[in-house]
Amino acid sequence: MKVLVVNAGSSSIKYQVVDMTDESVLCKGLVDRVGIPGSTLEHKPAGKDEVVIKKDLPDHTAGMQLVLETLVSPEHGVLSSMDDIGAVGHRVVHGGEAFASSVVIDDEVKKVIRECFDIAPLHNPPNLMGIDACTELMPNVKHVAVFDTAFHQSMTPENFMYAVPYDAYEKFRVRRYGFHGTSHFFVAHRAAEMLGKPYEECKIITLHIGNGGSVGAIKDGRVIETSMGFTPLEGLVMGTRSGDIDPAVVFFLMDKLGMNTAEANNYFNKKAGLLGLSGVSNDLRDVEEAAREGNEKAQIALKVYHNRVKGYIGKYMALLNGCDCIVFTAGVGENGIDARAAICTDMDFLGIKMDFEKNKVRGKEVDVSAADSKVRIFIIPTNEELVIARDTYGLAK
Ligand code: AMP
Repeated sequence: MKVLVVNAGSSSIKYQVVDMTDESVLCKGLVDRVGIPGSTLEHKPAGKDEVVIKKDLPDHTAGMQLVLETLVSPEHGVLSSMDDIGAVGHRVVHGGEAFASSVVIDDEVKKVIRECFDIAPLHNPPNLMGIDACTELMPNVKHVAVFDTAFHQSMTPENFMYAVPYDAYEKFRVRRYGFHGTSHFFVAHRAAEMLGKPYEECKIITLHIGNGGSVGAIKDGRVIETSMGFTPLEGLVMGTRSGDIDPAVVFFLMDKLGMNTAEANNYFNKKAGLLGLSGVSNDLRDVEEAAREGNEKAQIALKVYHNRVKGYIGKYMALLNGCDCIVFTAGVGENGIDARAAICTDMDFLGIKMDFEKNKVRGKEVDVSAADSKVRIFIIPTNEELVIARDTYGLAK
């Protein structure tokens, strides 16, 4: 069976076609500027040159229509007909408390995705637009929703509750949900294979560090805690998000800068993090370069960034009562040689010792721990699309 994987954002649609006989990727692509003048489709068939198609795409249905035409086009296509697609897997950011695993989409599932608009206003509406567009264009195949929050639903109240009046949870479902679940799931399972231990017997700390970032603490096959919370704003310092902060800072700055709720939301999500602190960029590479050139704010930003990750490793070591391995993944985790080294420096008290020579690697699956490190340190490139394709295949076959 061939599975189409779809990740629909507000003005973009990312897609892949995966052949489940050998899990090979037949093509990947990106529709950009949906609903904005100058829409494009970048389509990359395996082993062939990338093609870029320019066409105005007023909405997600028009975008998906162009994707499907391209998939079967005699020139750039990878399928002989649309009937080759056996199922479609959709990334959905928020499944609330309703879904602890992937599900075949029906009206009830769509209703829950819609109910989560309130707590995921930037992600769930475009995710649902993608689902609606695909179900309209491919009504005869199964569509599966794979939720970013699902893997973290194994958290128990002592780790997902905030210390605010209980009403906030009962009335408004205010609690920690966690995100990047498919990525944490993928690398945690792969780490267990690298450890040569059953997954259910491992203690693993997963560090998904990219433009967004989150940490997972996994024990006995369950997520014990994760650093993103009610929204993706909590936890690590990210490209443009502050991560953990005294909530009083929010009220104080709203007052001082005359910000309303939407403006404050934008400030802490889009103007903070590496970008806000360094004043240079949200891209770690730019901040590292500025720091090397002597920019003091960039140097401070880097230290705050590294220390936050170290702090979470320490916290999760305590929660798990030790761990077998820590795993670096996503843009920074897979490629950031200096960031990984800084995070793993002076961590030997916790049994974490990096081999700094082995660490000089990018985008490869490798064990970079020193021979006498009690805790293994792995770099594992993530593959969220493969998790979506596997879940979709499992539910559709
Ligand atoms: P992601 O959101 O997972 O795509 O990660 C994107 C981030 O990875 C970028 O913003 C960069 O900060 C970071 N990144 C990518 N390559 C490198 C690199 N070679 N060194 C340091 N950071 C990198």
